[in-house]
Amino acid sequence: MLLPLRGFTLFNMRKIIIIGAGFAGLSAAKRLSRSNLDLQITVFDKRDSSDFLPLLPDVPGRGLNPDFLACKITDLLRKKNLNFIKEEVISLDLESKQVITSGSSYVYDFLVIASGSQTNFFGNQDAQNHAYALNSVNDAKRILNRLHAGKFENLIICGGGYTGIEAASNLRLYCRKNGIAAKIVIVERAPEILGPLPDWMKSYVRTNLKGMEIEVLANSVIESIQESRLVVSGNRIFEKTMLFWVPGVRTADFIQRLAVEKNPQGRIVVDGYLKFGQDCFCAGDTAFFTEKNNSLRMAVQFAIAGGDHAAFNIIRRIKNLPLKKFIPRDLGYIIPMANNKSCGTVFGFNLKGFLPTLLHFIMCIYRLSGLRNKIGLTGDLTKKEA
Ligand SMILES: Cc1cc2nc3c(=O)[nH]c(=O)nc-3n(C[C@H](O)[C@H](O)[C@H](O)COP(=O)(O)OP(=O)(O)OC[C@H]3O[C@@H](n4cnc5c(N)ncnc54)[C@H](O)[C@@H]3O)c2cc1C
Repeated sequence: MLLPLRGFTLFNMRKIIIIGAGFAGLSAAKRLSRSNLDLQITVFDKRDSSDFLPLLPDVPGRGLNPDFLACKITDLLRKKNLNFIKEEVISLDLESKQVITSGSSYVYDFLVIASGSQTNFFGNQDAQNHAYALNSVNDAKRILNRLHAGKFENLIICGGGYTGIEAASNLRLYCRKNGIAAKIVIVERAPEILGPLPDWMKSYVRTNLKGMEIEVLANSVIESIQESRLVVSGNRIFEKTMLFWVPGVRTADFIQRLAVEKNPQGRIVVDGYLKFGQDCFCAGDTAFFTEKNNSLRMAVQFAIAGGDHAAFNIIRRIKNLPLKKFIPRDLGYIIPMANNKSCGTVFGFNLKGFLPTLLHFIMCIYRLSGLRNKIGLTGDLTKKEA
């Protein structure tokens, strides 16, 4: 009797491995599982839950229950031809088409890399030891516990991008609700917050931050971290500090080690079909996709569309059809602020105030997995404070 190898080979059955059960990976799995081809689809993730990242900053400010932002991956992969393995991928052998985890190795016919991005500590060991990252539901729970424990005078946010701004506004809301008079400061290395965004947006956000008594220290870096004591450029010293670390992201370690073309963040350069190497596709934050010299933002809408398209092209390859180019549609983006004075561009319209806040939450509820989570989150967002 011919026994299936590890990876349960069955003659013509194609083995597809998806690394990552985030937006891109789940979207790829969904499309593949619906095809009528003989596929064995295995999704790997280092966690057993898929985390909904866009609402993490709102956990302290709006009092969202972080458990509503996580969905068990086994609940999301219920179809017969979908398998889930909770293991961290540590390397890939693209020659022999193998995915290697700490416990085993798995052969694939087609690979989809959708392992997203993780906090970049830029080699700063002190930051890694003492700062709070915001890249998973567990990170949000850790932050909440630390905030509840109190005994801080300064909340310092390292990084003035979308996440830093959103986090700062939520921390102010948390402090106001709990009668805490902490100083909130955003430390940004660049001359301005929000990097390449349009001037009207930057100036609106700056005014808004000022209104919330959030200080911005641009052209500044955190020079030293000694537990809760920080020194920022210009010898500004902050004692009793809680430090939030959101200056940027990088790809997973196994991607960093992979000998393929990457951008400086370690994102894999993919072609117009989201392909790289032999039978490998990549989508979401891990993929560096450029169109007319513009690279795609790291955003949920592109991760979902990219995962779906990578799967679509795998199906075409199996059917011996030519691959189709990925043509992403940009619906826009929003910078959500906890005081509801958000701003953004949606379908080409510039929006400010409550409307973009509302659109952001509608989109989040729509995209969140699991009915229980959707109901719970809606309840949290609409509850009246006592
Ligand atoms: C705080 C925050 C707020 C954000 N807000 C917004 C927003 O408002 N709007 C928006 O569009 N985007 C937002 N984003 C960005 C958005 O969340 C990402 O672009 C999106 O999650 C990317 O999807 P992905 O599938 O590529 O990766 P992810 O959703 O990050 O999923 C990657 C998965 O891969 C797994 N994984 C990683 N490494 C390994 C490994 N070695 N082995 C096995 N599994 C692994 C992870 O556990 C994870 O489940 C935000 C991000 C953050 C962190």
